[in-house]
Amino acid sequence: MKNAQIGNITLVLSTRNPDKVAEFEALFAPTGHTIRTLNAVPGAPDVDEDRDTLEGNAAKKAEVIMEFTGYPTLADDTGLEVRALDGAPGVWSARWAGPGCTPQENRKKLLHALRDTQDRRARFRTVVALATPDSTTFYEGVCEGQITTREYGEGGFGYDAVFRPDGHTQTFAEMNARVKNAISHRGRALQALLAALEANPGLPAISSCPVSS
Ligand code: IMP
Repeated sequence: MKNAQIGNITLVLSTRNPDKVAEFEALFAPTGHTIRTLNAVPGAPDVDEDRDTLEGNAAKKAEVIMEFTGYPTLADDTGLEVRALDGAPGVWSARWAGPGCTPQENRKKLLHALRDTQDRRARFRTVVALATPDSTTFYEGVCEGQITTREYGEGGFGYDAVFRPDGHTQTFAEMNARVKNAISHRGRALQALLAALEANPGLPAISSCPVSS
């Protein structure tokens, strides 16, 4: 997807998470636009995800790095919202099993919490924030599905092995990355962002972002 008015653009991506970097790079590859991760920004500060909403965390991650570099910056925050748990773990998904916990401990806690529960409906929700010197804008992507009764698959990351998206027989951890990206919460949020970039040539600062790899 290219915009004839703004041309190819370069954005800083406020994450060092290699799983997210791989997904963002795959999602941006066909667009002709470029992302530069924090690995290209020496001395970039670590940002504490201490807000109580996905929007708050995504905005903080994007704005701190935008202020450090001076260039437009993208950040995402994702939560797994489980219907029978009143939307938990939600914004607390990363540290649900306790400070410093592993993704496997989070999945184990989730399966245990739902061990006697028939209603396995859940959704991933991603908020992507784009911070520019003028404003911060938000793009949301949702993927509805079910929590499985045990882990399936070796791929992916986080809660992928226990989440089966609606309309599919495989968990995210069993799918290849291309299939996941086409339907995932993160993929949908980025599609919304890319559509907005296409529609809005009023982001001229983005086209001159000179951050190098
Ligand atoms: P964050 O966006 O890095 O804060 O992610 C919050 C939590 O959700 C972490 O435990 C991640 O591992 C998990 N998570 C984020 N995105 C995904 C995904 O696409 N699949 C599975 N788990 C995810």
